[in-house]
Amino acid sequence: MLAAAARITKQLDRTRLDAELVSNVAELWPVDEVQLYQVVDGRASMGRRVMAIIDGRLEQQASLAADNDEPLADLNGADRAIGSRASVITEHDELCYTMTFPVHNQHGQPVRLLLLGSSSPELRGRVPDVEALLALYQNHLNLIEDSELDALTGLRNRRTFDHLLTHLLAGEETIARSPAGFRRAPREGSSTGNWLAVLDIDRFKSINDRYGHLFGDEVLILVANLMHKSFRAHDPLFRFGGEEFVVVLCGVDRGGAESAVERFRTNLETQVFPQVGQITISGGFTEIAEGELSSEILNRADAALYYAKQHGRNRTCCYEQLVDDGQISPLGRSAAGGFELF
Ligand code: GH3
Ligand code: MG
Ligand code: MG
Repeated sequence: MLAAAARITKQLDRTRLDAELVSNVAELWPVDEVQLYQVVDGRASMGRRVMAIIDGRLEQQASLAADNDEPLADLNGADRAIGSRASVITEHDELCYTMTFPVHNQHGQPVRLLLLGSSSPELRGRVPDVEALLALYQNHLNLIEDSELDALTGLRNRRTFDHLLTHLLAGEETIARSPAGFRRAPREGSSTGNWLAVLDIDRFKSINDRYGHLFGDEVLILVANLMHKSFRAHDPLFRFGGEEFVVVLCGVDRGGAESAVERFRTNLETQVFPQVGQITISGGFTEIAEGELSSEILNRADAALYYAKQHGRNRTCCYEQLVDDGQISPLGRSAAGGFELF
């Protein structure tokens, strides 16, 4: 158990932490199946299976797409475990049962569910041990999550962005199954893929100059809140520093990406900020292709953002559309971006 604790607290990222938790649980106790669900942010009624050991195989499902989400009500004992903040046993027949353990964060919100399927009576007596390991896991998860968030807005920080793209675009070689729900960007512009938008507040320096940094900071917090309201719950949101924000739009086509960023732009335009009044934002967006470096994607989105800034601000531009229309010339792909590096 102490060795498991040491292995768990050694992990510095969530995916590895989750993998370490399920592996150690499977090693320590007589279980036939281990499943770890993440409670989907902002939708406490939905869960997403992030890690599992089934038939002795470690499986990861680090999906960004909402179509992998399952109602928690469908999972054995999940609602009762979350409600009572205690483990719940669901009997399947005389032998087999599932033990469901909830994990809550320091604010009392449910964040994970651990489901253990077993046909051994011995597991029933190990509830305090499993709970102790989960308490340790949760404390460590808090530390990791704090280091991934921007302190001012609570959005993910830049560090998380590189990590997320590296894992999801390159695929997890160490893990048996590729992230099924993250659809690879298709070749044709009309089908759905994943898009990235960079959003930059217009003339933000003058807001700071006129009203001071405290009001500037307040604007940044309100912009982050408006992003939460404007984009879908499963689209990851980032603050890249300063007054620059990024959103990854999952499972949309060019038109869908455009309407999402435009909806946010118009929502922002009509919001009245305390003292400051109205502000605007410009954006550039581009499709994410398989095997790309994050810098290549960001360069394209930045090129479209730059065009938007040069052409009146308070507008959003699509990189691919600008290239199609001959407004900008395409950026070359760096040699390191393809798979040929390996
Ligand atoms: P543009 O429309 O071209 O984007 O103009 P801009 O003024 O928004 O852009 P510029 O890059 O010239 O200025 C960004 C300003 O953002 C500079 C700095 O004062 C401000 N800033 C950066 N980080 C923070 C922060 O954490 N808090 C506050 N209040 N201001 C910040
Ligand atoms: Mg700006
Ligand atoms: Mg800027």
